[in-house]
Amino acid sequence: MRLIMLGAPGAGKGTQAQILAEYLKVPHISTGDLLRVEIQNSTPVGLQAMEYIRAGELVPDSIMIQVLEERLRDPDCSEGFILDGFPRTLSQARYLGTTLRRMKREIDSVVNIDVDQQLILGRLAIRQRTDDDPKTVKHRLDVYHRETAPLIDFYLREGLLRHIDGDAPEDDVTARILRSLD
Ligand code: AMP
Repeated sequence: MRLIMLGAPGAGKGTQAQILAEYLKVPHISTGDLLRVEIQNSTPVGLQAMEYIRAGELVPDSIMIQVLEERLRDPDCSEGFILDGFPRTLSQARYLGTTLRRMKREIDSVVNIDVDQQLILGRLAIRQRTDDDPKTVKHRLDVYHRETAPLIDFYLREGLLRHIDGDAPEDDVTARILRSLD
């Protein structure tokens, strides 16, 4: 199972990706988590990414592609994966398509978790990440609408998109996603 999770920051895609990964027995690949590890280890990628993350900006595609490519080469990805936070731009989506085709693999489904913007702001207000202060949150939402939301149409046209109403308790959202994958 090769799955992409889409959704605005705070829509719950990370939580759902983690639950689904356990259930489907495939790795959960969060590019945000991968970057945070790079930052913790003060690697060249981490040092480059840090300023973008702090400002609520997207890390440049060239860096992201490098980070993802390395992770996809790990043997645990051979049976599938759940991508959380990648792709975030159309060019990342095209890159992913090309890379998977080259590996004779393909995306099975793209799950878009839909949550009302006011609810998202409330959820983000109680998280404790350094990029969750109100000004940065607002900026991340703007970036999401400008750069990432167009992916919904992109995957709709590829016939892969599943729309999930994410305004429900965690377990219900998981059940909805699993039903949509049947
Ligand atoms: P996340 O944990 O997915 O919310 O990601 C945290 C931050 O990491 C984002 O606000 C971006 O700055 C950066 N990031 C994560 N994934 C990507 C990506 N695919 N493209 C660009 N930047 C990313």
